[in-house]
Amino acid sequence: MKVLVINSGSSSIKYQLLDTETEAVMVSGLVERIGEEMGDLKAKVYPDTDDEVVNKLHQPIPDHTTGMRLAIDLITDPEKGVLKDKSEIGAVGHRVVHGGEEFHKSIIITDEVIAAIEACIPLAPLHNPANLDGIRVAMDLFPDAPQVAVFDTAFHQTIPARAFMYALPYELYEEDRVRRYGFHGTSHKFVAGEMAAILGKPVEETNMITVHLGNGGSMTAVQNGKSIDTTMGMTPLEGLVMGTRSGDVDPALHTFLARNKNMDIEAIDTMLNKESGLKGLCGMNDMRDIHEAIAKGDKHAKIALDVQTYRNRKYIGAYMAVLGCIDAIVFTAGIGENDEIVRLESLRGLECFGVKIDEKVNDQRAKEPLKISTDDSTVAVWVIPTNEELAIARETKSVLNQ
Ligand code: ADP
Repeated sequence: MKVLVINSGSSSIKYQLLDTETEAVMVSGLVERIGEEMGDLKAKVYPDTDDEVVNKLHQPIPDHTTGMRLAIDLITDPEKGVLKDKSEIGAVGHRVVHGGEEFHKSIIITDEVIAAIEACIPLAPLHNPANLDGIRVAMDLFPDAPQVAVFDTAFHQTIPARAFMYALPYELYEEDRVRRYGFHGTSHKFVAGEMAAILGKPVEETNMITVHLGNGGSMTAVQNGKSIDTTMGMTPLEGLVMGTRSGDVDPALHTFLARNKNMDIEAIDTMLNKESGLKGLCGMNDMRDIHEAIAKGDKHAKIALDVQTYRNRKYIGAYMAVLGCIDAIVFTAGIGENDEIVRLESLRGLECFGVKIDEKVNDQRAKEPLKISTDDSTVAVWVIPTNEELAIARETKSVLNQ
């Protein structure tokens, strides 16, 4: 079956067309600057030949419908495309950021599901409306194809109350659903499954810590294949030090800023989400730039790396305590897959907990899963590339097969 995977943002649509039999990517594209004066579409098309073709469009793209139509026109273009007709698309899988407590797994989209995703808008005011735009456009363009929602939060719905509750007045949970939800669930679940397969164990019998370090970052304690704790909370702001997000701070910081810096709630929100993290500490949020700056003696860059990797290490230790015995630690996403220094620093000093890294192997770059622990390390440490699109396509297929 051909599955179209859509990740719809407020001004962009990321999409991939995959063949679920072979798991091959047929088209991968990005529509950007929707609603601006000029928009862009860039799509890599993989026809039967091995050579990829890159198609680009630069024109006004007033709305998501136009963006998606342009993408489909390219997919079905007689010369540049890979399908004769859009009816060959058997299903559409949608990334949906927040499923609240409603959704424990992926689900076929119905009117009730749409209403429930709408009901989660207060918890994800930027993401869920954009995801719904993508769903509505796809339902319109592919009226006969089933649409499946895959939630970032669903994998974490197994987290017990002791880990998801904030110690706040209980009514806030009952009335406003204030609690920890966790995100990046599709990625954590995907790499956990891959890790178990590599270890040759059923995921239901595998304990591990999955460490997703991209521009956003989160870590999950996986017990017997289930998420039992994760670092992101009610929103993706909690937990690790990220590209531009602060991660954990003293909650009293907000009062301090309001009282002493005359900042209103919007300014504080912007600062914590967009101007903090690595960027706040050193002005850069790309790890590659940070390493370059450290090599030139930039002290702020060094402190940014130290603060980030120390926080990683602290949570790894916390999750070891939460899990008791662990089989593996898995690093994934942009930084996790590519940055040997961040990996090494995040694991420093954990030898007496059974974590031993082979520094030579850790220095290698690999597109395939790579074991970076030594053979006598009690805990296996692996780098496993994440693939959220493939994970969504697999989820879509599995929901339809049920
Ligand atoms: P997201 O999907 O969250 O936007 P990614 O998982 O693509 O992010 O990760 C992006 C980040 O990965 C970049 O900001 C950069 O810090 C980091 N990154 C990418 N390539 C490398 C590399 N070769 N070395 C170190 N860091 C890298």
